[in-house]
Amino acid sequence: MDLLLDAPLQAFRAEVRAFIAAELTDAMRAGQAATIGVYPEPEVALAWQRKLAARGWAAPSWPHAQGGTGWTSTQRFIFEHECALAGAPIVYPIGIRLAGPVIIAFGSDEQRQRWLPPMLAGDDYWCQGFSEPGAGSDLGALATKATRDGDDYVISGSKIWTTHAHHANLMFALVRTADTPRRQDGISFVAIELDRPGIEIRPIISIGGDHDVNQVFFDDVRIPAANLIGEENQGWRYAKYLLELERGNGLFSGRLRASMKRVEAALPSPPDAAQRRRIAEVAMELDAFEMLELATIGTLPSGSPPGPLSSVLKLRASRLKQAVAALGVTLLGEAALRRPGGTSGDVLVADYLNSRAATIFGGAAEVQLGIIARSLAGLGQKG
Ligand SMILES: Cc1cc2nc3c(=O)[nH]c(=O)nc-3n(C[C@H](O)[C@H](O)[C@H](O)COP(=O)(O)OP(=O)(O)OC[C@H]3O[C@@H](n4cnc5c(N)ncnc54)[C@H](O)[C@@H]3O)c2cc1C
Repeated sequence: MDLLLDAPLQAFRAEVRAFIAAELTDAMRAGQAATIGVYPEPEVALAWQRKLAARGWAAPSWPHAQGGTGWTSTQRFIFEHECALAGAPIVYPIGIRLAGPVIIAFGSDEQRQRWLPPMLAGDDYWCQGFSEPGAGSDLGALATKATRDGDDYVISGSKIWTTHAHHANLMFALVRTADTPRRQDGISFVAIELDRPGIEIRPIISIGGDHDVNQVFFDDVRIPAANLIGEENQGWRYAKYLLELERGNGLFSGRLRASMKRVEAALPSPPDAAQRRRIAEVAMELDAFEMLELATIGTLPSGSPPGPLSSVLKLRASRLKQAVAALGVTLLGEAALRRPGGTSGDVLVADYLNSRAATIFGGAAEVQLGIIARSLAGLGQKG
C-alpha cells in the first residue's frame, strides 16, 4: 500500500496511527480478538465507537454536514486498514454504514435530526430486518405486512437471521405496503422501535455456538407513519442502494489481514515447509484482493455505492474469509478437533465454523455470481 500513498496520505496515516495509539485500549483489543461471531458484542464495539465519535471519526463515509468525516475513499481505506491491523473492534455497521446513508439520501430533515446523532454517539443500536423465512435471496417475496391505519402502520409477520436484534433498540425493515403485479413495487422501508408491544425476539444459536442472530415476530405492531423512510412503495429502490453499500463498501482487506495475523499468532509451533507454502498462497490472494479493493474503492467519490463491482468484492472477500479461517484450523491440525476451552485455538475453530455464513449473509455467493454474470453480459440488474 505504501507504494500508492503520496506525502499527504502518509501524513494522514500517521495521524490515524497516533489516534489509535492514544485511544485503543488493551481491553478493546482483547474483546475484538475474542470475537467469533461476525461482530463483537456491543460493549466492546461501542467503547471504541464512542472514542471515534468524540474525535468526529465515527462515520467515515458520511458527509461533513451530517457529522461524518468527509474523507476521500482512499482515506477511508487507510483508516479502516489501520484500525483493523491495530486490532480495534469492528464498529457495528448496520446503523452507521447501512441505515445512516439511506436516511441521509432518502429520509426527511426531521428523520436525519432524530436518528443520525444518536446513531453516531452509539446511543441507538440498529438492526436490519430484510430477510424472512420465505424471502432471502428472493427478497422481493417478503410478506411482512404494514397496513396503514390513521397515523400508524400496523405490522404483522416475521424477520429472520436478524443479527444483534437482541441488542438493538431500532430496526430498519422492508415491509409490504401493497400487493402489486411486480412484487418489488409494493415494498416500503420503515424504522421500527423494538420496544413496541407485539414484538418478540427469539434467539438462533449458530454452528459456532454463539448467539448472533434471531427471529423477530411482529403481531399487530403499531408504528407511527412518520417512521416511513422515503416514499411509500419505493422501498426496493432504497434497499438496492443499501445492499450495494453492504456488499462492496465495507473495506474488507484490513479485517482479512487482521484475521491472518490472528491465525499466525495461534500456531502452536513454527510452521514447516508445507505449512509455510499454504500460508504464502493465502497471503498472496490477500495481497491481490487488497489491490483490487484499493483500485475499485479508491476511484469512487466518497460514500458512493460501487454498483455491480460490489458483488465482485463481496464474493472475493467472503471466500477469502473462509480460506483464512480454514488455514487456521488446518494448521492447528488435531488440536482443532480437541477444541480446548478459552484458548486462541478455540477462537479459530469457532471462527472457522461461523465463517461458513460469509458466503450467505449480505447475499449468497451464487446470487453475487448471477449479478456479475448479468453485468458482464450487459443485461443489467434483475429487479
Ligand atoms: C450469519 C447471518 C447473519 C445474517 N444477518 C442478517 C440480518 O441482520 N438481516 C437480514 O435481513 N438478513 C440477515 N441474514 C440473512 C441473509 O441475507 C440470507 O440468509 C441470504 O440472503 C440467503 O437467503 P436464505 O437464507 O433465505 O437462502 P436461500 O435464498 O433460500 O438460498 C438457499 C440456497 O439457494 C441458492 N440460491 C438462491 N437463489 C439463487 C439464484 N437465483 N441463483 C443461484 N442460486 C441461488 C443460494 O445461493 C443458497 O445456496 C443473515 C444470514 C446469516 C447466515
